Amino acid sequence: MSEKQNQKTIPTVSEIPDGLSGKGFFATSLEKAVGLARKNSLWPLPFATSCCGIEFMATMGSHYDLARFGSERLSFSPRQSDLLMVMGTIAKKMGPVLREVYIQMAEPKWVIAVGACASSGGIFDTYSVLQGIDRIIPVDVYVPGCPPRPEQIINGILKIQDLVGNESLRRRNSKEYDDLMKHYGIE
Ligand code: SF4
Repeated sequence: MSEKQNQKTIPTVSEIPDGLSGKGFFATSLEKAVGLARKNSLWPLPFATSCCGIEFMATMGSHYDLARFGSERLSFSPRQSDLLMVMGTIAKKMGPVLREVYIQMAEPKWVIAVGACASSGGIFDTYSVLQGIDRIIPVDVYVPGCPPRPEQIINGILKIQDLVGNESLRRRNSKEYDDLMKHYGIE
């Protein structure tokens, strides 16, 4: 096999962003470079209240290994994480706590609702259960299932990585983002 053919079979760790390359140099935009760094170093905050949290534990284990996507560094401190993963049934009494955790996270931050309960209340259509966390905080990606398998959770992470990698650096200062926060009563 020639050296060129051999190079094609070597998997790349991360997709190279669009840009200009030549002998000894590669140039791209700041936005793309920042997006590349952010998407491959997401620090999740697992907000796990019930069974979906167990699936997340499997996702972190050696078989599925979330570290492959740069997300092995879990943080239980909102100020040191940028990906809120909500997994499990959220009782209405728990709502203000979840909201507070979200508010305490520094920008830029993203949210995944993992499983039917976090996404819509799931089978618990009762007076005490929040019918989806998007009633109190904005959600970027929803992962369906009761519970979702680890592959689905990983798929949710890949979707978030797409969003993060392509997000404009100006988005958080835009009027649309301001309006979104105001909609949730977050200033
Ligand atoms: S979606 Fe199903 S598995 Fe997940 S927390 Fe709700 S009841 Fe449990």
